[in-house]
Amino acid sequence: MIVVLKPYLKPEEIKKVIERIESFGLRAHISEGKERTIVGAIGDERLLADQSLESFPGVEKVLPILKPYKLVSREFQQHNTIIEIGGLEIGGKKIHVMAGPCSVESRDQVLESALPAKQAGATFLRGGAFKPRTSPYSFQGLGEEGLDYLAHARKVTGMPIITEVLDPRDLDLVARYSDVLQVGARNMQNFKLLTEVGKLGKPVMLKRGLSATIQEFLLSAEYIAAEGNRKIILCERGIRTYETETRNTLDLSAVPVLKQLSHLPVFIDPSHGTGRWDLVAPMALAAVAAGADGLLIEVHSNPEVALSDGPQSLKPKKFAAMMEDLKRVAAAVGREI
Ligand code: PEP
Ligand code: MN
Repeated sequence: MIVVLKPYLKPEEIKKVIERIESFGLRAHISEGKERTIVGAIGDERLLADQSLESFPGVEKVLPILKPYKLVSREFQQHNTIIEIGGLEIGGKKIHVMAGPCSVESRDQVLESALPAKQAGATFLRGGAFKPRTSPYSFQGLGEEGLDYLAHARKVTGMPIITEVLDPRDLDLVARYSDVLQVGARNMQNFKLLTEVGKLGKPVMLKRGLSATIQEFLLSAEYIAAEGNRKIILCERGIRTYETETRNTLDLSAVPVLKQLSHLPVFIDPSHGTGRWDLVAPMALAAVAAGADGLLIEVHSNPEVALSDGPQSLKPKKFAAMMEDLKRVAAAVGREI
């Protein structure tokens, strides 16, 4: 439930309310607004049922959160979450574009997309070193060697890096190299991984599962938040439908829906969302028009020989042209790129 405190309380007064909540075996998560503080009491709310917390000093009112997810809900926090990463702010006015190859293939290959992507305005470098492949015989990624190439590209370009962690056993290793951890669509409901990522407290991008409802998506984000990590970026990357012209069906309405239901930043991945390079730019433009806070885009200098997802990767030149168009759409909706 949400415990709304009276305005302008002193830190000692807030502390007493928190101790009271915790004495019922509930966890208190704090959201500080300009005037007042809201405390999310998380756990079995029945424990609080017949205790009248409302009459406790400093408490203004106690409200149930009706959604099954709590900490990530707009009810708990009205203002947008802004995540600070290496001096960049995700979730603010600026739209961030994370670009790079699907898989890290070699030291040079990463730089061949990282350098032009940065030049065109990308602010984060993406690239997979641990790849979730449908077939066990497909390229599985370079592992730590790939992480090392990403770190090298970060040094050369200055761009922070985002890379996927597939398995809780690799978490420490991947976290040592990355600025943002990516939890992929196939792992959206790997609850053990979500819990571990939550404990770590590093920014994380959670991608929507292939067949996940929005509610399931937000409940997965709640797993991370419940461990104390609120630096979560939600990413819609297409869902599975009966349509076969595209690899997935990109659910663009997820942007305004997620924005209504949650305070977390929302990204769109039009590369996996469509599976076709020729559809990436139109969907990226539409995503920004719909209110997305950022984009995740696959870029490869030579998609014909890419070890994964070549057909949906943009060549650097096409990426740069898309960025120019994005600037105009962003300006039209009061954002910048
Ligand atoms: C990726 O970003 O390369 C990836 C594997 O994405 P998803 O988990 O959305 O399929
Ligand atoms: Mn990919």
